[in-house]
Amino acid sequence: MRFARRMGRLGTETAFEVLARAKALEAQGRSICHLEIGAPDFPTPGPIVEAAKEALDAGWTKYGPANGDPELRREIAAYAGRMRGAAIDPDGVVVVPGAKPILFFTLMALVEEGDEILVPDPGFPIYASVVEMAGGKVVPYRFDERRGFALDRATLRRAKGGIFNTPHNPTGGILTREDWDAIAGLGLEWLISDEVYSEIRYGVDHVSPLALPSLRDRTILCDAFSKTWSMTGWRLGYGVMPRPLAEQVTRLQINCTSCAASFSQRAALAALRGPRPDEMVRTFRRRRDVIVEGLNAIPGIRCAEPRGAFYVFPHVGRDGTALARRLLEEAGVACVAGASFGAAGREHVRFSYAASEETIREALRRIRTLAG
Ligand code: PLP
Repeated sequence: MRFARRMGRLGTETAFEVLARAKALEAQGRSICHLEIGAPDFPTPGPIVEAAKEALDAGWTKYGPANGDPELRREIAAYAGRMRGAAIDPDGVVVVPGAKPILFFTLMALVEEGDEILVPDPGFPIYASVVEMAGGKVVPYRFDERRGFALDRATLRRAKGGIFNTPHNPTGGILTREDWDAIAGLGLEWLISDEVYSEIRYGVDHVSPLALPSLRDRTILCDAFSKTWSMTGWRLGYGVMPRPLAEQVTRLQINCTSCAASFSQRAALAALRGPRPDEMVRTFRRRRDVIVEGLNAIPGIRCAEPRGAFYVFPHVGRDGTALARRLLEEAGVACVAGASFGAAGREHVRFSYAASEETIREALRRIRTLAG
């Protein structure tokens, strides 16, 4: 079989490969501290699980509308608008299986061969992967580690479109109002704002371009139930976008998945109508403090304090890919090499602190022994 040329341009998400290797080592009897995967380690809240069971019993087991259950789209418009201080048109909401399909479908709908697209470096690896598969040219922009991985505005360029992510994976940095003002001046035709970590912040505001008159008509919001409600396996996400683009994305969904799972969508109503994940965020904050302090106490490692999400991205003063490999193979600490997130991550590794404090402390002990 000869694969289509476009497959040569498609990248991957290394965290899944590390997870597979870590599981294989575990199957051989090795003890592994899992700090690689970006999934909250908490169960999905009980009322959401109950709502899914009720939906299954009530027969929500068939195809539904391709753009999503109308009641859920209205609830998403209300929730997403409330938390961002924006008015959202439910007809611009499309419900899909996770945040990733919003990235994939919108990039497929918008990127032409040779289009220059701003992409964060370091950044979620799927951005560059899908832009390149669609024939676009990745134009990287950077962050300033000394300022808690704040956006380095001097690295922004004029381009056709751009992808932004706040709070940011892998650094935990956030975008401020001033950052968005700088982005508004770039003349982008469109921008994707990936806000899957918008509820996971440590005492800082969330600023979405949807709330800014200079950007809202060009903005595609990408969000999901995955992180906020610990629902990574439910595969449920959504986009908010101008209606004409919502129609294109819906057509892509019809061609690809038909619709998101009907009973998951009913359960999502319970998520949006239930309490915010404050307790989970408090727990993440305690773990963040433990891992940042622990890493900074190891000679040769420098770790900025994240303001959101649940990752740290320490500078390790050497090739991060080799260190990540040794950490897994020799010390049993699973993490992701910084280079997986772009060239600027070469001397970094990413640890997820979506793991118990006990696991984090044990991982720190092992890292200190191997790398200190
Ligand atoms: N966007 C970012 C920044 C992420 O970190 C992730 C998952 O790690 C996703 C999107 C994908 O989310 P989902 O699992 O809902 O597709």
